[in-house]
Amino acid sequence: MNLIHQSQLAKEHAYCPYSKFRVGAALLAQDDKVFTGCNVENACYNLGVCAERNAMSKAASEGYRSFKAIAIASDMSDQFISPCGGCRQFMREFGSSWEVYLTKPDGSYLKMDVNELLPVSFGPDDLSMEKVFNIPNK
Ligand SMILES: [Zn+2]
Repeated sequence: MNLIHQSQLAKEHAYCPYSKFRVGAALLAQDDKVFTGCNVENACYNLGVCAERNAMSKAASEGYRSFKAIAIASDMSDQFISPCGGCRQFMREFGSSWEVYLTKPDGSYLKMDVNELLPVSFGPDDLSMEKVFNIPNK
C-alpha cells in the first residue's frame, strides 16, 4: 500500500536524537492529497511532537479537515506501531470513523479505525451538548 510506503519514507526524516525511536506518518486527505510527518524531539523533552500530530497539523494548517486514513511507521519489527493517547485524541478531532494503519517495517499492517483506538471518546460534538449552568458556586 502506497500510504504505508510514504509513512516509511517520512520516518527517514525523524529527529529523535534522544529516544532514537523513529516514527513516520502519512495522512491521506479526502481529495487524496498526502501529508507526511515524523517525530521531532527537543532538548526540553516534553516539547517533542509525534509524527502523527505533525502530519495532521500540516494538513490542518493548509485547510484540510477531513481524512480517509493515516499510516504510521516505526523501526519495530516485532510489533505494530501504535499511536499514543494524545495522537488518538488528535485524530478524533477530525472524525471517529477513518482508518488507521499500524505497520511494521516489512509493510505488514493492522487496520483499525479511530473509534476502535479511542472508544467512548470526547469530541467536538460534545462541546455543543446541552449543559447545566445553574451549578451553585458555593
Ligand atoms: Zn503520539
